[in-house]
Amino acid sequence: MKKEHINRYGDKFTFTLNKDKDILWKGNFAYHRVGYANDYTEAYQAYLDDMEGLDEDQILSLEDFKIDVHVYFDNKYLHPDYIKLVKSLPDKIDMVDPSGGPYITAGSRLDRFGFNCVTVEGFKPIKNGYKIITKKCPCCDQKAGVHKFSCDTKRVIVNLK
Ligand SMILES: [Zn+2]
Repeated sequence: MKKEHINRYGDKFTFTLNKDKDILWKGNFAYHRVGYANDYTEAYQAYLDDMEGLDEDQILSLEDFKIDVHVYFDNKYLHPDYIKLVKSLPDKIDMVDPSGGPYITAGSRLDRFGFNCVTVEGFKPIKNGYKIITKKCPCCDQKAGVHKFSCDTKRVIVNLK
């Protein structure tokens, strides 16, 4: 399966599904921005250490912490002690933005490019572009939100309904 996308500068990009169910994204990447994933392990552990003794419902979940720790206003971070412990992972690309678009980040869905229910996990550089690593079910290896009939994950979901 191969799809095309013309960006706002008229550059053509192609998206090709490979046999691993990842997507090869090729086109004009002469000018583009790349973002790297963060490692919150150390920062979150420091936060948890500081919160020890508090009720569980007063402590931020890791997902909420990831958002809170980046809050910046009045020229300072909300949590200056924790933000400096957040590490950037130079080999884990989580955002690619060619000049003129399209801007794609980890966690976004590729429906607008013709791949329904496919979610981005991350990116690997390839010749003339990037391989978009797609999120798959760890149990049956299908694309995000889709499962084989035999998948245990699906059985759990069905049982809950
Ligand atoms: Zn599954």
